[in-house]
Order: sequence, then C-alpha cells, then structure tokens
Amino acid sequence: MDDAGDCPDDVEVRVVHPFEARKAYVCPGCQQEIQPGSGHLVAVPVGEPELRRHWHRPCWRNRTNRKPGR
Ligand SMILES: [Zn+2]
Repeated sequence: MDDAGDCPDDVEVRVVHPFEARKAYVCPGCQQEIQPGSGHLVAVPVGEPELRRHWHRPCWRNRTNRKPGR
C-alpha cells in the first residue's frame, strides 16, 4: 500500500488468479458479475473473513481513489 496513513477500515486485499476463480461473484463496485476464470481481487476485513467481497480490479481502484483532499 502506498498511502500509509489513515486507513479507516482494516481490509486485506488479495489477488485471485484466474485459475482460482471458480465461481461467479457480484462486484459491489459495479453490481456486475465477475465471471469464473477471470482474475480479480478479494477484500477481506481483518477479523471478519466471512464479510469478504470480490471486486473487479478497476472497480477496487476507483473505490480507493475516492479520497478527500484531491
Ligand atoms: Zn466491478
């Protein structure tokens, strides 16, 4: 992570490789399906792995870019 600083929610982001993506998930960023077999990211709240969410890479980037001060 580049911006060490305030990080309101503790989330661990992992890369899911195409061969690991065996199910379809709905991306919370765009509400569209992440197809099985496509690489994406999974955001896992620290201490609450059951609340993990699967994101398209660009959707996750857009989310983290929404910071105040720019
Ligand atoms: Zn998406």
